[in-house]
Amino acid sequence: MTAFDEAVDKHFPGALDVADFLAEVRRQVEPLGFTTERTLTLVSICRDELTTDFFDAVEADWGSSFTLAGLGGVPALGRTGWQAALSHVPDSAGRGAMLVFGCPHIGIESDGSIGSTIRSGQTRPTATCGALNAILQQSIEGTLPTEIDFDDFEATRLALRLIDPQLPPPTLVDLTLAALDAIEVDLWRALDDAAVWRDHDVAVWCGVQIHGHDHDDRIWPRDAWYCGADGHRRRLRTALY
Ligand SMILES: [Zn+2]
Repeated sequence: MTAFDEAVDKHFPGALDVADFLAEVRRQVEPLGFTTERTLTLVSICRDELTTDFFDAVEADWGSSFTLAGLGGVPALGRTGWQAALSHVPDSAGRGAMLVFGCPHIGIESDGSIGSTIRSGQTRPTATCGALNAILQQSIEGTLPTEIDFDDFEATRLALRLIDPQLPPPTLVDLTLAALDAIEVDLWRALDDAAVWRDHDVAVWCGVQIHGHDHDDRIWPRDAWYCGADGHRRRLRTALY
């Protein structure tokens, strides 16, 4: 087993190749009526160019996708953005379907080091996720923002959203899981507030996107839930449940 695989197994056991993850998603949601024709995909991932391989794979599988997130992968589109997203769901066949993905991301290099990536054309590793790493450093140094800075809106909002200074995350993995929790809460809050199940079936898959060296990406599928016309949310099976 390589150092990369050992680190993935230790922190994110059950992580899948992106292709295997998306095949599993389709295998589970298609019987629920999620066809490409009636489904809009919404994707909540970080701005980092490393995340776009996953976005491209989702679009190759399901067609054009709506982007929900800013830095860190936490939804950043606000009420107006959600109203736009919800108004784009196909309805020509009656009820539409929304397939939502929410994933913070983390780099794991070939030597097993956590939170860094040697990117194409670069000679040294940089932090992945850069935004989460930056606010972790602020937490360690005691320099977390106390209010939103409109010239650094996404990062300051992210820090305020994710870190309780009285209970700071010890590691980048912990902060990444805090981002995952926040993504899942915020996705369902927006979907529930809009009562989307009245008009659309909805499935939400949340996990961590892991970047190995040279685009060797995995998804750790922590949670998957479905809500249909009865408004009852039920858990779909993942590698962890
Ligand atoms: Zn990032």
